[in-house]
Amino acid sequence: MTAPIRLGLVGVGKIARDQHIPSIGRNLAFELVATASRSASVDGVARFATPAEMLDAMPQIDAVALCVPPQVRHGMAADALRRGKHVLLEKPPGATLSEVAHLADLAETQGVSLFATWHSRFAPGVAPARKWLAGRQVRSVRVEWKEDVRHWHPGQAWIWEPGGLGVFDPGINALSIVTDILPEPVFLTGGELSIPENRAAPIAASLQFAGVSGAVMTAEFDWRQTGPQTWDIHVGTDAGDLLLSSGGARLWIDGESVVDQAEAEYDGIYARFAELVASGGSDVDLAPLRHVADAFMLGRHVTVEPFHDQPNRDTA
Ligand code: NAP
Repeated sequence: MTAPIRLGLVGVGKIARDQHIPSIGRNLAFELVATASRSASVDGVARFATPAEMLDAMPQIDAVALCVPPQVRHGMAADALRRGKHVLLEKPPGATLSEVAHLADLAETQGVSLFATWHSRFAPGVAPARKWLAGRQVRSVRVEWKEDVRHWHPGQAWIWEPGGLGVFDPGINALSIVTDILPEPVFLTGGELSIPENRAAPIAASLQFAGVSGAVMTAEFDWRQTGPQTWDIHVGTDAGDLLLSSGGARLWIDGESVVDQAEAEYDGIYARFAELVASGGSDVDLAPLRHVADAFMLGRHVTVEPFHDQPNRDTA
C-alpha cells in the first residue's frame, strides 16, 4: 500500500467540519496532518494561523484542501501550487474566471494536481441522470433552487460581498449538475438578479437559457424560501421526463423513483482527488462559474428590500 497523502486543510468553517473532515477520516488515501485557521482547531491535528505558516512549518505536506471563501482562495492556492502541493478547491473555485484559469496553468507548469470540486456532481442521482439523458433530445429544463439563507448561511458576511455570489453560492450547485448531465450546452439569454439594497450580492435570480438544438431552460434561485426547501431539476426530452430532486440525491424517470440515497458527495470528492494525485491529472471545469459570470453580465440588476440576518432588525 502506498503512503497516505499528507493533507493540510485551510479554513475550518461549516463545510470543513460538516463534510471534509469526516470524509478525509473515512479515506485511507489521506492523512489530515495540519490545519490553517484563524479561529478554530481540530483535535489532535497541528494548527497554524495561516496556510503559509502551515506550509513553512510542515514542508512534508503533499496536498492542501481550501475551504475558505472564494474571495481569499487564489493567493493561497497559488502559493501552495508554487510550493509543489496538490490543491483541492471548494466550490466556487474562485472569485473570477481569470484567477482560476491562472491556477490551472500554474498546476500544469508545476506538474501537480488541481481539483476544482463541484460537490453536487457527486450526488447519487447525477451520474445515472447523465447516462439516461445521453442520446435523448432535451426539450425543456426547469431548475428550482430555493432555500432559506438564514438557516443555511447564518452570519456568513462574505457571502453577501462582491465575489461571494449571494444566491449563486447554492445556485451554482444546480448549474454544476446541469452542465454535467445535459448532452448539449445551454447559453444564458436573459435574466433578473434581485439585490437587497443593503447588500452587494443577489438574494434571488431568475434566468433563461437556450440550448444549441432548441431546448429552453429556466432557473429560479431564491434565498427567501422558508418551510420546505427545493433543490429540483426537471428535464423534458423526446423520450420521457426526468426529475432530480433533493440536490441530486433522488432521481425519478417518468414518475418512477430510480435513485433515493443519502448524500455521499464528499466521499466521492476525496476518492476523485486521490485518483487525480495518483495519475498526475487535474480536473478544472469552469462551465458553472461561466454561467454565473454570464448572469452578472447579461442579467438585469434590480434593487429589492434590505436583507437582515435577524428578521425585523433595522440594521444589517
Ligand atoms: P464558513 O463557515 O464561513 O467558513 C469559511 C472559513 O474560511 C471561516 O471559518 C474562516 O475560517 C476561513 N476564512 C479565511 N479567510 C476568511 C475571510 N477573509 N473571511 C471569512 N472566512 C475566512 O463558510 P463555509 O460554509 O464553510 O463555506 C466555505 C466554502 O465552502 C464556500 O466557498 C462555500 O461555497 C463552500 N461550501 C459550503 C457549503 C455549506 O453548506 N456551508 C456547502 C458546500 C460548499 P478560519 O477562522 O478557520 O480562518
